[in-house]
Amino acid sequence: MFVNMRDRHPGYSADLKIINNSASALTVGFAAVTITPEVPDRWVDANNDNEYNPKDGDTFTDGNGNGVFDPVWIAGFSNRKPANGVHDDTWARTMIVDDGKSRLAIVSIDAIGFMNDDVVDVRNLIPEEAGITYAIISSTHTHEGPDMIGMWSGTPVMDGLNKEYMKYVKTRIVQSVEAAVKNMRPARLEISQDLTGAIPLVKDTRKPEVFDSGMRMIKTVDKKSGEVLGSLIAWADHPETLWSQNLLVSSDFPHFVREGVEKGVFNGDSLMKPGIGGVCVYVNGAVGGLMTTHPSLPVKDPFTGVEYNEPTFEKTAAQGKQLSLLALNAMENPSEIVESAGISMVVRTLPMKIDNIMFKLGAALGVMNRGTVGWMKMRSELAVIKIGPLSMVTIPGEIYPELANGPIDAPEGNDFGIQALEIPPIREMMPGKYKFIVGLANDEIGYIIPKSQWDEKAPYTYGRDNSPYGEENSLGPNTAEVIHSNLKEMLGELGE
Ligand SMILES: [Zn+2]
Repeated sequence: MFVNMRDRHPGYSADLKIINNSASALTVGFAAVTITPEVPDRWVDANNDNEYNPKDGDTFTDGNGNGVFDPVWIAGFSNRKPANGVHDDTWARTMIVDDGKSRLAIVSIDAIGFMNDDVVDVRNLIPEEAGITYAIISSTHTHEGPDMIGMWSGTPVMDGLNKEYMKYVKTRIVQSVEAAVKNMRPARLEISQDLTGAIPLVKDTRKPEVFDSGMRMIKTVDKKSGEVLGSLIAWADHPETLWSQNLLVSSDFPHFVREGVEKGVFNGDSLMKPGIGGVCVYVNGAVGGLMTTHPSLPVKDPFTGVEYNEPTFEKTAAQGKQLSLLALNAMENPSEIVESAGISMVVRTLPMKIDNIMFKLGAALGVMNRGTVGWMKMRSELAVIKIGPLSMVTIPGEIYPELANGPIDAPEGNDFGIQALEIPPIREMMPGKYKFIVGLANDEIGYIIPKSQWDEKAPYTYGRDNSPYGEENSLGPNTAEVIHSNLKEMLGELGE
């Protein structure tokens, strides 16, 4: 029962410090490899409670021909929600940047989250010949894909994680990295951003209203042929526009963004805006606090003008069209072209304290498929990276945009009666002009909440009647401070 409290990777550390401020020639490679699960089974929800339960009269047909219901649990909303098919492929997409000294892999997978232990497994599987100095494995946080954490599988006290599928995903991530290495070419980076265009596409469902709604793009062009090798798009929103009733595996809006950027944006059969080709990698940012395209937020199709409220694939496609148009337009006029740059990075493995009793239970019961590195401590990880005028910070979970961009609030009724602790905001501490925050990177430790906004006890903040959503899915009230103070030191080591 307590097997998961053992450290799965004793002594592991990703710690690294490499500084290269010289103007080095860059080689870049991209690859996209599917990680779509097979979904042979189908079920019928007799009482429409959106949960599979034979006691409700729910029935299933078994696609395996062996009489065993072997569901793909969709992770994100309610427990016990098996998929009934696949709408779009889920992916492991990789961008590799090499400055002749270090080789950085940025991998984005369509997953609700991917725990640090699993990240370490993947790193151990990447062959030496791939020459990877450091691999970031981040999750898009789709709420419409297979469970890779174990919190949505089966019953609350049973680890129903599909071990075969997890093994498959790890193998496929390695293949994605290897393919990206093979595709490496001398390249330049074209950096662009649109910091305001996407604001109407995301809602903040928890006060205070602070967003991370700027879009940041890196388009990569082969120096010799002028061909676009690929792009990296960073934005921050929960990929849950399809919401809670969808039963088809999907990567939600990132699917439509990547399609639009690569192949163009269509109105029916008419191409309205050509794509740039290559492989598009979508990474998510500060999605906590809580960034979502909630069913109450209408999304307009940019061509037909039709406004969608209900969470459907049409709405999600409309959102993807809008986002890819913003990205494509911004990439036409890059703010900066990086012909050469060194890659600097500081990486720290960190033991994170588990204060949350539910998380403690989860670790003990094996609901969450990860080990502990000490008494109620999880191994997690932070990284800060600089490539010329571009910097990147990786966050191991869902950070509140207040911590990324400021301002942090200290509303009356906050549990500790304190002022904002985690200042200045992370982006203010980051070097360079273009500041990418990659959330759910190398881990998913849940919400990272400013301590002065922590609110489990009455009196509640902002005139609330109850404790707001967030704290129960956080390691604890000190997590943000630990991350903030470590990033401050690491960014100091990284230099201007
Ligand atoms: Zn989330």
